[in-house]
Amino acid sequence: MIEVSREGSYALLIWRMPRVNVLSPESVTAFQEALESVLTDSQVRGIVITSANPEFLAGADIRYVQQLVERQSIEEIYQNSWRVQEVFLRVETGGKPVVAAIGGSALGGGYELALACHHRIAWNASDIEIGLPETTLGLMPGAGGTQRLPRKIGVAPALQLILEGRRLRPAEAHAYGLVEELVGQREDLIPRALQWLSQTSSFLGNPWNAPDYRIEQGHPQSEEGRRIFTAAIAKLRERTYGNYPGLEYALRAVYEGLQVPFVEGLRIESSYFARTLATREARAMVRTLFIERQRLLSLPHRPAQVPPASFQKVVILGAGMMGSAIAYVCAQAGYATWVKDTSPQALEKARNFSENLLQREVQRGRLSPQKAQGIQQRLSYTTEYQPLAGADLVIEAVFEDRAVKTQVYAEILPYLSPQGVLASNTSTLPITSLAEAAGVPDRFIGLHFFSPAERMPLLEIILGKHTSQQTLAWALDFSVKIGKVPVVVRDSRGFFTSRVFGTYVREGLRMLMEGVPPALIENLGRQAGMPVGPLALADEVSLSLMYSILRQTERDLGVSLAEDPVASVGELFVEKLGRSGRKAGKGFYEYPPEGKKYLWSELNRYFPSRPIDPALYPELRDRFLYVQVAEALRALKEGILLDARDGDVASILGWGFPPFTGGVFSMIEWVGEEQFRMRMNYLKMRYGDRFDAS
Ligand code: NAD
Repeated sequence: MIEVSREGSYALLIWRMPRVNVLSPESVTAFQEALESVLTDSQVRGIVITSANPEFLAGADIRYVQQLVERQSIEEIYQNSWRVQEVFLRVETGGKPVVAAIGGSALGGGYELALACHHRIAWNASDIEIGLPETTLGLMPGAGGTQRLPRKIGVAPALQLILEGRRLRPAEAHAYGLVEELVGQREDLIPRALQWLSQTSSFLGNPWNAPDYRIEQGHPQSEEGRRIFTAAIAKLRERTYGNYPGLEYALRAVYEGLQVPFVEGLRIESSYFARTLATREARAMVRTLFIERQRLLSLPHRPAQVPPASFQKVVILGAGMMGSAIAYVCAQAGYATWVKDTSPQALEKARNFSENLLQREVQRGRLSPQKAQGIQQRLSYTTEYQPLAGADLVIEAVFEDRAVKTQVYAEILPYLSPQGVLASNTSTLPITSLAEAAGVPDRFIGLHFFSPAERMPLLEIILGKHTSQQTLAWALDFSVKIGKVPVVVRDSRGFFTSRVFGTYVREGLRMLMEGVPPALIENLGRQAGMPVGPLALADEVSLSLMYSILRQTERDLGVSLAEDPVASVGELFVEKLGRSGRKAGKGFYEYPPEGKKYLWSELNRYFPSRPIDPALYPELRDRFLYVQVAEALRALKEGILLDARDGDVASILGWGFPPFTGGVFSMIEWVGEEQFRMRMNYLKMRYGDRFDAS
């Protein structure tokens, strides 16, 4: 697991675990033994810690963390963290200079090991990530990160990095002071590390190891410190509304730990780490955001007998907002990608979109100029069909209009390769009906991307009634290749994601009609844990889109949906007032050309507000989440999902359902089953059958 080798009077400790380098009880023991062997060897004058794997050290083994959160007591978790702290302290105070030679990602516990060294050199490669992202999984650093980082780079930047869980590319990590040096080639790492050791004649340890060390700038009891912490608390509160205990514990660990000697600080960190892991939020987040997400990436729904997809040429029809971003993602994954639109202007915009994005990525050090050029060269734009011949995968992203879509299917079909797959990015039109219109129902599938497609991690894959096993398998292979987490669902109106998340917007519209002040609606939505308020969301998706889908549904099904709040609010806002959302520059919000958006001041004329007793706020917040859970349960019962666990991942990655709950189904466990049922029954009694979860 850990190899020890010698270079003259220096020792190399090389991490080489079979799959991926992670911190687990076994690997920590192996590392400790290797470390002791070189610390006690009088011939060894200095140590390099490095890795033979692509990653330096990826952090804690999350499967082991899951065992901790599911089964262990706070005391046991504390002991566990403390054991790692002791080993890292030996690195730091063992009496020999230690340098971390970082040739791959160093995250969480991996970076914390590097922090315990006396010097850090990283390979400046654009796909390496460095940082402490634990809080994004509902955890917090527990191997010295909250104590060493602020002492090393300063309290304010350390708090920012820890609380945002940011992963930095080497150049950025260097600018923040997370690593002292960068090298251009991986091969240069070890020679440079050895050179550093050879120049380090007198060994002093890290500054905070001195008994009289006291942090100078940003001490919590200093004026500057008080300012930093007050701002950090306020910012955290504004961002999370107290929904993430792990973040608050991390903040406390820094605050308290900086006021005591360093080793005491480590103890404080371990105790908050244990408390964090014991929360239901940590349990829910680890399970969904890591374990279940990994499960989906292993493609549990892929038909095993189908050989892997061998797509070479991908065609995107429609160079609008979605099409341009999807094309970018495909080219990035290595596909020769063609973008087709009827409008040359749209193509020009799409080209600019990818060029700007690439430029930004290069500037931020996330992409090498060579890779950026490669991506650009794989993208081609055309108004003609001819160059599209032999397409292995066509993703249609033209206007959400059945007639337009049907027409482009007829036009593209002759250019599709004999086994080629035709996919639609429609967000609402049933896939089976589009597949039939296209005339290749077995080779047709829904590939529903989320906006902005270059960033959103989920791909909702929708099976039509006649979609073949081969088409499904290849769609799944494609999803992994482009780096998206696939969730397979059966066909229905709004599929899974749009259907469930639409209920959140609708609940907001209902509250507006009930006279709840709009600012309160928005704040309560965010307090409930949703990323944006429902009215802001309605403006983003556009009320006009929701309204036209509603009308289309009425026509398709021959029913009246007048009860739906989108019907009445849509009629007023879209038809009468022409305020259809952000794209139109006006909706529930005003969008001044410069400056921030704000709620339209005339809303009160159409929806007179009444005072709301603050005692009712929890109920309003619950309505936002419970209405989604009830809809998700109905979808599950109807067989839209292949597995409830898929829905948890889809809800968080797809539309930002509060991660701290573990997702739209896990929320039931997070609340407690009994309590959840009682609350849902109450809401049903008071507000109607949309809260029926039976
Ligand atoms: P858009 O209006 O930005 O782009 C549509 C593009 O299609 C335009 O550039 C238009 O010129 C082009 N087009 C129209 N007819 C064409 C034809 N016959 N041949 C080639 N190109 C043609 O729309 P969008 O927001 O990118 O949405 C596209 C599709 O993606 C829709 O089906 C929509 O429902 C779906 N979708 C949208 C979102 C979203 O957030 N906007 C999310 C998921 C899915």
